[in-house]
Amino acid sequence: MGIPKLGPVIAIDGPAGTGKSSATRRLAEILGFVHVDTGALYRAIALLCREKETTFPDLNEAELATQLSKEVHLEFKRIEGKNPANRIFANGRDVTDFIRTPEVSMAASRISAIPDVRSALLGLQRRLGCAGPSILEGRDIGTVIFPDADVKFFLTATADERAKRRLIELEAAGSDAPSFEEVRSQILARDHGDSTRKVAPLKKAADAVELDTSDFTLDEVVKFMEKAVKKALTHGKAKKSSTGAK
Ligand code: C5P
Repeated sequence: MGIPKLGPVIAIDGPAGTGKSSATRRLAEILGFVHVDTGALYRAIALLCREKETTFPDLNEAELATQLSKEVHLEFKRIEGKNPANRIFANGRDVTDFIRTPEVSMAASRISAIPDVRSALLGLQRRLGCAGPSILEGRDIGTVIFPDADVKFFLTATADERAKRRLIELEAAGSDAPSFEEVRSQILARDHGDSTRKVAPLKKAADAVELDTSDFTLDEVVKFMEKAVKKALTHGKAKKSSTGAK
């Protein structure tokens, strides 16, 4: 028996910088669904690895990540207020503000290729998605985590456009912004790692709706997805079954 699914599940996959997070956040607010940013889970483990590297110099990154992924307690908490936001906590500590640096992005991509790390995070992602109406964003949601998601999207955009968007985000976050070329090559390196790894590589699910967001505004992307979700759900396609997950 799998985990019972208490509401529709929407899967949004795609490479970095396609506007996935902003679109997912907005769509979740409009639909009243819970937003699960699965990349934040890999990022939180990557951050802990970097912090622990000095304490356990004998363990390499892969060993540390494997160990941490089995022990760490990760949870999302929604903080209400002027700008409501989902914060991620690792062992009770809010790490949200530390997981978006370029170094953590690259480390997250490296450790996400480790099969033990991926399987340690699988159950948590499925439990979060099954807890009620939810939208999960990541790389393997429609292919591995929720292969029977009610609606699946795969977002893409040109490398230049994605680098431009990521640079704006980094500048807005006040970090020492790298150059456009640096951001672009990091994005391409992550794409390569994410799509060529052996376990759960980044790829479009056969039944996902693909959307190239390069020439669309965020509003247009969200409107397109909202329409597609409402159509799919009102046509009675919502799958009541479990994930098939153990
Ligand atoms: O989505 P985000 O860019 O925050 O993800 C950070 C990294 O985590 C990705 O580059 C990818 O390597 C990994 N990831 C993954 N599977 C997911 C979500 C993220 O491998 N479902």
